[in-house]
Amino acid sequence: MTSRVATLDRIGIPDERLFALPPQQLHHFALDATASWHPRLSELIHHADPYSFFSVAIRAGERVEPWQSGRVTLLGDAVHTMPPTGGIGAGTALQDAACLAAELLAADRGERH
Ligand SMILES: Cc1cc2nc3c(=O)[nH]c(=O)nc-3n(C[C@H](O)[C@H](O)[C@H](O)COP(=O)(O)OP(=O)(O)OC[C@H]3O[C@@H](n4cnc5c(N)ncnc54)[C@H](O)[C@@H]3O)c2cc1C
Repeated sequence: MTSRVATLDRIGIPDERLFALPPQQLHHFALDATASWHPRLSELIHHADPYSFFSVAIRAGERVEPWQSGRVTLLGDAVHTMPPTGGIGAGTALQDAACLAAELLAADRGERH
């Protein structure tokens, strides 16, 4: 999967129009936007399935203050939604799970309360 990430002002199309564009037009949009890239990279986009293109909005949330721990916890995207870029969302969710498993094990051994 390839993704192109840009702020709205760089894309130059308002959200309403961008999200109404059919996949083939998004394909053209991606081709135009990458026309100056290395020909081998542009070629990849050129040969992509035009119907596989879609728009995704990426928004950042406000940082929240730490809260009192309870008996319910959230892991992965449920507590820190990751963008489709960077390739770290899945690894971070697994790291959260490993961290929770270690904490539960420590509690079971009486090392944590
Ligand atoms: C388009 C896109 C591309 C991405 N590309 C990458 C990538 O290349 N590499 C990478 O590392 N990360 C990528 N990410 C991010 C990554 O997918 C997430 O960070 C990761 O999947 C989070 O894992 P998770 O287990 O927290 O949540 P999820 O993978 O979202 O798992 C949550 C699960 O809970 C289920 N669920 C929801 N509600 C209920 C319910 N009420 N009852 C039962 N089940 C429920 C859902 O169906 C889902 O299966 C991408 C994200 C997007 C949107």
